Amino acid sequence: MQKTIFQKIIDKEIPAHIVFEDERCIAFKDIDSQAPIHCLLVPKKHIVRVGEASAQDENLLGHLLLIATQVAHQLKIYDTGFRIVINHGKDGGESVPHLHVHLLGGRALQWPPG
Ligand code: 5GP
Repeated sequence: MQKTIFQKIIDKEIPAHIVFEDERCIAFKDIDSQAPIHCLLVPKKHIVRVGEASAQDENLLGHLLLIATQVAHQLKIYDTGFRIVINHGKDGGESVPHLHVHLLGGRALQWPPG
């Protein structure tokens, strides 16, 4: 199977502005920021999309949310607020088939999203 763009970032084959990394995940700035802070948190295990995660991945999914909050602190958007988004499938707006969590902040975000 061909590597996803995110797998290539994990494997350091293509550059990214990495803001956090541990043995289970990596967080880097989105190339097409939709807010002053827009990062993606990506598990190193290749799960295609959130709906395809299994019970085995429960811990990893929780880890991604905890790290998202940690990165929000690190990038100083914790106090002003932030949004965590996971897009699943076509109508959800998913464009990269490798599970990722968007972390957005640094401005007042609208609701409902477009
Ligand atoms: P999705 O639409 O699948 O939820 O989110 C994919 C995100 O990946 C988009 O926000 C897009 O801007 C970002 N993205 C796509 N290719 C790259 C890349 O090569 N580098 C980085 N840093 N972000 C990317």
